[in-house]
Amino acid sequence: MTVSNVIDHTQRDPWSVALEQFDVAADRLHLDPNMRGILRECQRELIVHFPVRMHDGAVKVFTGYRVQHNVSRGPGKGGIRYHPSVTLGEVKALAMWMTWKCAVVGIPYGGAKGGVVCEPKGMSLQQLETMTRRYATEIMLLIGPERDIPAPDVNTNAQTMAWIMDTYSMHHGYTAPAVVTGKPLSIGGSEGRNEATARGAVYTIIEASKHLGIDLEGTRVVVQGFGNAGLHSARLMQELGATIIGLSDTGGGIHNEKGFDIAKVDAFKKEHGTVVGLPGSDRISNSELLELDCDVLIPAAIENQIGEHNAPRIKARIVAEAANGPTSPEADRILFDKGVFLIPDILCNAGGVTVSYFEWVQDLQNLFWREATINARLKEVMVKSFSDVLEMSKKHKCDMRTAAYMVAVHRVAEATLTRGIYP
Ligand code: GLU
Repeated sequence: MTVSNVIDHTQRDPWSVALEQFDVAADRLHLDPNMRGILRECQRELIVHFPVRMHDGAVKVFTGYRVQHNVSRGPGKGGIRYHPSVTLGEVKALAMWMTWKCAVVGIPYGGAKGGVVCEPKGMSLQQLETMTRRYATEIMLLIGPERDIPAPDVNTNAQTMAWIMDTYSMHHGYTAPAVVTGKPLSIGGSEGRNEATARGAVYTIIEASKHLGIDLEGTRVVVQGFGNAGLHSARLMQELGATIIGLSDTGGGIHNEKGFDIAKVDAFKKEHGTVVGLPGSDRISNSELLELDCDVLIPAAIENQIGEHNAPRIKARIVAEAANGPTSPEADRILFDKGVFLIPDILCNAGGVTVSYFEWVQDLQNLFWREATINARLKEVMVKSFSDVLEMSKKHKCDMRTAAYMVAVHRVAEATLTRGIYP
């Protein structure tokens, strides 16, 4: 979603949101104050400013970040996003969320994230490549197959990862596929990685509907965002027999009670650059989209979409956070009181980083798995993690986000404590 689609006074700084979510779980876990102090900060925060020569000969200075929140459980892991509203606070929050995400699904990584402040939609492929290669060089202080492994995020993709992998490899004098995940298949990418975030999210939706006694056949679904997570979530939900009645992208929202054929929407978007204007659809705003009467709402765009201003009007029975950080803590409380079943981002969208982990393991072993193997292993991880979190939520009579944080924070705190304080 474009930031312009969202009213400014509803925005909360993502870092303050991340800290508040952490504090709720830390309180419930009676976490030791020293451990709380450690986990409330990011271990490393790198800010880089670097020049890129633009087409007209002018030199533009870009700002980028790479943050590692906690690496007690393994190397840093997390995507890189390109967006005009990227800030250090946002990247810190996203890095912290990666720490909890990797812990909740039990993969051996710490949390990291990167971002560059830019408007990629206005840039040529060549400029994107130059900017990416220079940014990759700047953050080489931190990244590496055993240190910190980037992946795609908002407005970055397999091609971006190929440029980073190549830049890193050129500097080191040998090919290092395992330095990034989400690469193209031809250079050590993994089967199933492209749609893994969505596939993982859909596995959690299936588990949630079993728990709630909902039959997914014929359920009415709304998806906000039509990037990697949104497109594939909509497509996979349609494959399960659901009706996708609302969709959106940065251009706006569309609605059709009879449902969309996602392959047709995808083809229309490829031709016109947006889903808006699809024949047979009504144009709606971002806020109307989120408040549509539906069974499953899948926010698959960016942070700060559901706040106290619109949470009371959300009609979905299940909210599945394919995006990172779409719901504020105030909205969490409102939705929980209304009986909405929310599958939190750190669980719901963890399929992406899970298959990133599979990709990294395959790269390190130079042994590649079939797609059926990847999807089966992904399913096993998602079903088990959902059940761990659901058990925790039942035991502590709390919402699924607090439960997911409790599972994750406990694991990270245990690793941090076991390793001890150096020196
Ligand atoms: N950017 C994705 C996320 O937020 C994937 C991260 C990764 O695969 O490392 O989870």
